[in-house]
Amino acid sequence: MKYDTRVGYQRAVKLIGPPERCDMCGKKFPERLKKPMTSTHLEPDQPTIDHILPRAKGGGNAKENLRWVCFRCNSMKADRLQCTRCREYKDASAFPADKHKRNGLGSACQKCVTDFINDYYKTEKGKAKRSARNATRLGRERRMFNSAKQRAKSKKLEFTITLTDVKLPEDDLCPVLGIPILLQDYQSDNSPSLDRIDNSRGYTPENVMVISNRANRLKRNGTAEEHYRIFRYMTNQLKKDDL
Ligand SMILES: [Zn+2]
Ligand SMILES: [Zn+2]
Repeated sequence: MKYDTRVGYQRAVKLIGPPERCDMCGKKFPERLKKPMTSTHLEPDQPTIDHILPRAKGGGNAKENLRWVCFRCNSMKADRLQCTRCREYKDASAFPADKHKRNGLGSACQKCVTDFINDYYKTEKGKAKRSARNATRLGRERRMFNSAKQRAKSKKLEFTITLTDVKLPEDDLCPVLGIPILLQDYQSDNSPSLDRIDNSRGYTPENVMVISNRANRLKRNGTAEEHYRIFRYMTNQLKKDDL
């Protein structure tokens, strides 16, 4: 475990007062360990100076960034960041980007941010806001774009489209079935749906089209060849020599 030795014990005492209890586990420091630390042979209950925002991530030696924690807790923390909401220590990669912060990362972890947003959309206010947004063309296109981005990520699909590639049909009709496309709040046959024309390919500008939910559901992951065979079957044109 390495920690800053440039901020000396006495200097820290001047800045934040003598060590009383660990700021992480709350345990009182034993009297005999309240003395300047050496970098070797630290005991688990030894007070150590902790940089709340690790120095490696841009945290400085100002008193606002310093606190006393026991060596045990400090060792567990390593150079991880503490989430201001769940108080858990996580790797920097678990935090969303925030260009307004000095270290470029948000103060709450991605999971907490996501939970917070989801909780908001469960409230009446959040629900009203979401439906108002989904009822606008741009709002709906943005939602389809964002869900596609999520799906691409989880299914590891190519994703090179931008928001301008997600366009509701100008005439508000499904280009496949000709049925109306409606921006209702609930999912129906008439809801718009972003389709990958060739299911074996990802979200690329030439491979996406907004079609009706019904067309997308019927098409599912079938190939053109398979749909042609289904068409022949349904119209009684299927002959044994086709198979
Ligand atoms: Zn502790
Ligand atoms: Zn969190």
